[in-house]
Amino acid sequence: MTKEKKIMALAEEHIMNTYRRTPIALVKGEGARVWDANGKEYLDFVAGIAVCNLGHSHPQVVKAIKKQSKNLMHVSNLYYTKPQGEVAELLTGHSFADKVFFCNSGAEANEAAIKLARKYAHENLGADKFELITMKDSFHGRTMATITATGQEKFQFGFTPLLDGFQYVGFNDPAALEKAISPKTCGVMLEPIQGEGGVIIPDPRYLALVREICNRHKILMILDEVQTGIGRTGKLFAYEDSGIQPDIMTLAKALGNGFPVGAMLATNEVARAFAPGNHASTFGGNPLAMAAAKATLEVMLQGDMLEHCQKMGGYFLTKLQALKARHQVISDVRGKGLMLACSLEIDGAGIVKTCQERGLLINCAGGKTLRFVPPLVISAKDIDMAISILDVVLEGT
Ligand code: PLP
Repeated sequence: MTKEKKIMALAEEHIMNTYRRTPIALVKGEGARVWDANGKEYLDFVAGIAVCNLGHSHPQVVKAIKKQSKNLMHVSNLYYTKPQGEVAELLTGHSFADKVFFCNSGAEANEAAIKLARKYAHENLGADKFELITMKDSFHGRTMATITATGQEKFQFGFTPLLDGFQYVGFNDPAALEKAISPKTCGVMLEPIQGEGGVIIPDPRYLALVREICNRHKILMILDEVQTGIGRTGKLFAYEDSGIQPDIMTLAKALGNGFPVGAMLATNEVARAFAPGNHASTFGGNPLAMAAAKATLEVMLQGDMLEHCQKMGGYFLTKLQALKARHQVISDVRGKGLMLACSLEIDGAGIVKTCQERGLLINCAGGKTLRFVPPLVISAKDIDMAISILDVVLEGT
């Protein structure tokens, strides 16, 4: 049995069957590349699904984790630690928010946001205001509250009863949102660009219209930037391009460039609704996670990473448009920064598999959408290489 086969066999025998995995076992990563246990090299346009934004094993993040691990790996939130305050300062200093709650994942960040919205509404708007409106085709996580918030039945099937107090409306449809608001509504929760729903980019004015509706009805606007945040769309946060600010925002994925960490941010006005004992996480704000997040944010903010993402995103989009002109199987291409996609006339699974055989990792967001979320450090040369692999693979469809 090869080394790789051994890794897969061990996992198959002992790990629960929740992931539809590709039969490769990855053992190393550097920049935009990963290697499997047989030594085969891949260009990684999945990047942990929009996680390793600075590239795999970024030296500054590695150095920060190493240093922190020698000093203090974990203490309870019964005590203060310096890295937590430093990361919170960086996040609030570069966003609309005044306060941060730290957790470990996107689902947990959204769970915290749902709880904060309910608590705020309970105290400020009345106990009968608890309903959240979320979007059809959204994705907010896999806990019970977040599968309820997720407007896709396939994630909810078999897990009923769901939570009370959620309603779904079409994304990019302000009129439907306005119509769905009832005396029970306390807020709206949405992604600036729907990621798992198929990289759906709304009209440029959409977020501003949602904000205006929330203001008029005195309800909260919650943005899930778990996938779009930390530079992915060419700004530190995707909402920056919309000219508005949410009341609550959630982050995870790229915040630690691969180290598990999540955050829920809010204005002072809203954050005030949480008091000691209302919410907590043993590992939330763990010193190692904070060291990774601090280094990630510093690298993201210091250099020209965001400009590079915008430039490479534009370059990649142009190349995808040219690919569309050559292959009828592509029905649409779209993207913002380095969050891009192709809609296909056929199921994308075969294309993903053949690309992988040729050394390019991509994945599908929805059966017929190829998603591209490479590390933001990607070069034009690597984009050209990905395009030429796609070109050959599409030729064979
Ligand atoms: N929210 C969005 C927009 C996501 O894309 C995801 C994951 O894909 C989540 C939440 C859930 O994050 P996690 O898997 O870290 O719980």
